[in-house]
Amino acid sequence: MNRREHLQLGLIAGFGGAAVYIGNKLINDEDVALKDFGNALLFIVTAYIGSALPDILEPAKNPHHRKFFHSLTCSGALGGMSLKISNIKNESIKMALYGLGAGYATHLISDSTTPRSLPLI
Ligand SMILES: [Zn+2]
Repeated sequence: MNRREHLQLGLIAGFGGAAVYIGNKLINDEDVALKDFGNALLFIVTAYIGSALPDILEPAKNPHHRKFFHSLTCSGALGGMSLKISNIKNESIKMALYGLGAGYATHLISDSTTPRSLPLI
């Protein structure tokens, strides 16, 4: 999968997450303020960036470029971090980190579907 395809998936995840975020507020009859749209936009932007991050950390210069930042171990660490993020009180920081994680996850999930898949470590 090339960078452009990774970025497209990151954007889809970003818009999906933003829609869920705003939709959840509407379903719960919460007021949707301008800052909520800002947080949704922050999620989209950081998901976009996150989707490129694994190949920025480990550039795809050869077929064996997938090391730790493309690994199943890294995926597990991301899952563990998302539990910690839920404790953060600042909603903007929380949305930025969730967006980054969601974008990063789309990259690893899509790479895992290729014949080389992901390394364990
Ligand atoms: Zn990659």
